[in-house]
Amino acid sequence: MLEDKKLKLTFCSGAGTVTGANFLIEGAGKKFLVDCGLIQGSDMDDELNWEDFPYNPSEIDFLFITHAHIDHIGRIPKLIHGGFQGKIFSVSPTKDITLYMLEDMANLVSRDTKYDLSSIYTSENINKAMNAWQGLDYGEKIEADDFQFSFKDAGHILGSGMLEVIYNGKKIVFTGDLGNSPSPLLPDTEDVKDADYLIMESVYGDRDHENRNERKKRLEDVIKDNYKKGGVLVIPTFSLERTQELLYEINSLVENKIVPAMPVFLDSPLSIKLTEIYLKSEKYFNETAQKLISSGDNLFDFQGLIKTPKTEDSKDILKAPSPKIIIAGSGMSNGGRVLHHEKNYLSDKNNTLLLTGYQTMGTMGRIIQDGAKKVRIMGEDVFVRAKIVFIDGYSGHKDSSHLVKFVEKTAEKVKKVFVVMGEPKSSMFLAQRLNNELGVDATTPDSGDSVSLDI
Ligand SMILES: [Zn+2]
Repeated sequence: MLEDKKLKLTFCSGAGTVTGANFLIEGAGKKFLVDCGLIQGSDMDDELNWEDFPYNPSEIDFLFITHAHIDHIGRIPKLIHGGFQGKIFSVSPTKDITLYMLEDMANLVSRDTKYDLSSIYTSENINKAMNAWQGLDYGEKIEADDFQFSFKDAGHILGSGMLEVIYNGKKIVFTGDLGNSPSPLLPDTEDVKDADYLIMESVYGDRDHENRNERKKRLEDVIKDNYKKGGVLVIPTFSLERTQELLYEINSLVENKIVPAMPVFLDSPLSIKLTEIYLKSEKYFNETAQKLISSGDNLFDFQGLIKTPKTEDSKDILKAPSPKIIIAGSGMSNGGRVLHHEKNYLSDKNNTLLLTGYQTMGTMGRIIQDGAKKVRIMGEDVFVRAKIVFIDGYSGHKDSSHLVKFVEKTAEKVKKVFVVMGEPKSSMFLAQRLNNELGVDATTPDSGDSVSLDI
């Protein structure tokens, strides 16, 4: 009988690498997945996405989603396409955000011919996922036979949750991504004090953040400087969470008259839609943000803000007088409307390009950040004379020391920590720290590995 109680955990993908979170638990007659994300990176990584899953999707009872970043949700339509008939659970806003994220992705992949993705990312498959999906509140419990499931607040993005699984009196916790608390909008990551097994992220496992407290002051300085020069401030931004954090901070700077009001264009259809979800989700915000809302403030709207969902409106931004601010995607300038603005404005020394997120090697954002004097955008050579500013501290992930502090709370109880969702160097460094500093048994499994949980 004891043997029957054992659970098998498989790191299908998302171990030894940052993206593609997809973990399988089997045992006691049930099979369930945590996250079903897209593997992102090189072309070789891309191909891995379209190989068969190492399980039969039709045999999976449940899919739990920690949060709506594409590396945690991007392969849900493929799971549906493969015959998944089970139920999907997440914290409520994650469901709404996922709908927009997957529709956006369906748009992007519709021209793919190599893997016939347009037959996978159909509105039918996306709708099937939505119909199978039940949104939960933090702490709300789902029971299934011998299992109990619930989410704690991870503080990473709106709706992000850590999945707690209780089985046979033992607790397994999947962290998903862990927020860089305190966040401007969200409550701090909840403590986990009683995990027997922990499956945790390690994106910043080997590094600590810098300057996190200075970021709003630096944003203020950049906006004031741009205003003085009568320039255009272009901010390439991720649509989910980073955009809303920026709007929230600019809202506060404008409404407290710390910076002068000027036109601020939100030039991203996806960002505009996602901001609508944020507006409906105040109960998931931290106390400060909730107090501001009850005082009558719309956190994401202020004098000067202009939303441009339509292409014609986006084109008109060029005609608007300076000084002005343009927030547009993509966050690493590897596509999206921001490229038009970079083409129009990078060559003028009075303008500023503000980078607020990590810029991956090979992206336009990284090339500019590394000091290129000339770049090629949509077939045109563009001289980079604008001021380039990088503000660190906007990361949405806990850094190495805060990840250690997070584990410390459950260090007495935890039997084993599986360090995943990080580059190998980063995961190994964190596992070593957990070993040395907390005396915790921490390992770094590879994608494809299975372990038996002694429960
Ligand atoms: Zn994430």
